[in-house]
Amino acid sequence: MNKEIIQLYKNFDNNKLPLFFEKLILFINNHDKIFRKYILEDSLNSIEQFKESEFYLGTTDDNLEGLALGYSETLIGADEKEICGNVIHMIWDIATFMTDELCPSCQDANLKIASSTDRNNIYKTCDNCLITMENGQFIERPKEMIPATKEQINS
Ligand SMILES: [Zn+2]
Repeated sequence: MNKEIIQLYKNFDNNKLPLFFEKLILFINNHDKIFRKYILEDSLNSIEQFKESEFYLGTTDDNLEGLALGYSETLIGADEKEICGNVIHMIWDIATFMTDELCPSCQDANLKIASSTDRNNIYKTCDNCLITMENGQFIERPKEMIPATKEQINS
């Protein structure tokens, strides 16, 4: 599992982000039994069905290339749990749409658009201070959130 994910990260190419994203989803599906031990069920079931075309990829100011290169080093001695957490985090970083709106709480990051796992609720959330808003109101951060789709963002 380590070698496979490290190779994937080493081959990261910002110009081929959709392909990289699809490979991450395939990696999760191929290791479903392991991911199931560490990742909440509804999130995992949803993520395993993700298609690159459903999301706006790479809208954040994250240096994805730098992150992927860094992870290809740090994951060498990682255990299953760390790898699973890391990959799900990477999916979040790539696929979660970032708005132009500055976080009203920390004013240190832009709000991202997330969704409930059943796609019924849309949230704005801050990766920096973790505040979450729904319909303009602050709410308790849901246990599970996944990136919002293009369709949800455009609606
Ligand atoms: Zn914030």
